[in-house]
Amino acid sequence: MSKIYYKSAEEVELIRESSMLVSKTLAEVAKVIGPGITTMSLNKLAETFIKDQGAVPAFLNYNGFPYALCISPNEQVVHGFPSDYVIQEGDLISVDCGVIKNNYFGDSAYTFSIGEIDAERQKLVDVTKACLVAGIEKAVSGSRIGDVGYAIQKIAEDNGFGVVRELVGHGVGVKLHEKPEVPNYGQRGRGIKLEEGMVLAIEPMINAGTAGVKFWSDGWTVTSKDNKPSAHFEHTIAVKKGKADVLSTFSLIEEVLEKKHK
Ligand code: MG
Ligand code: MG
Repeated sequence: MSKIYYKSAEEVELIRESSMLVSKTLAEVAKVIGPGITTMSLNKLAETFIKDQGAVPAFLNYNGFPYALCISPNEQVVHGFPSDYVIQEGDLISVDCGVIKNNYFGDSAYTFSIGEIDAERQKLVDVTKACLVAGIEKAVSGSRIGDVGYAIQKIAEDNGFGVVRELVGHGVGVKLHEKPEVPNYGQRGRGIKLEEGMVLAIEPMINAGTAGVKFWSDGWTVTSKDNKPSAHFEHTIAVKKGKADVLSTFSLIEEVLEKKHK
């Protein structure tokens, strides 16, 4: 798919259904994530949950990726393999999930804070979330792709953090990765114009240190070059006039986390 594929209102509703299933899956992960749990156990839970809902884990076998979830602890930026790594108090665990339901894709990611995290990590999580909100605010018809990237980059860099350049957001819906690319950096007023019918995965990947990343020889895992922590939040959204329609949600995850912490 070399051109931008514009979705009908009916297709947006199908992508919403897939995106909400991603959010529900991440809420299932939220129920059990914590110290002493392996990242592989989260992957198994998610794979089973998605299949039980009559859907397909979109990442499993995507270009050979072997798991349903990407799970990226601490200095891992994205595309980490679930493993026998035992989650510890103070970790940041980024969990990225995609599903295919009724042939449509949804894609969303959340960085979980495990117990008490240090001040730098807390700020990183808060700023990365704020970057996502700011990017979505600009994802309205008439804006340009560069407006979205600029908004994200400004917040991250004003807070002294690094914006990953090598990996970007993307169109989504009929395939996992469609045109256009949605960089987390850019110049205002530059790039293609956003229009209704575009569905985008906006996904700031923000490093506590410098922007540079390393690619592991496993062909997937990406870590920060300086091994400082990294955070990643992602929503699937539909471009609309005035205000984007956010098709995934964090509220299911955060309801679970609030209950756990009471
Ligand atoms: Mg994703
Ligand atoms: Mg994505």
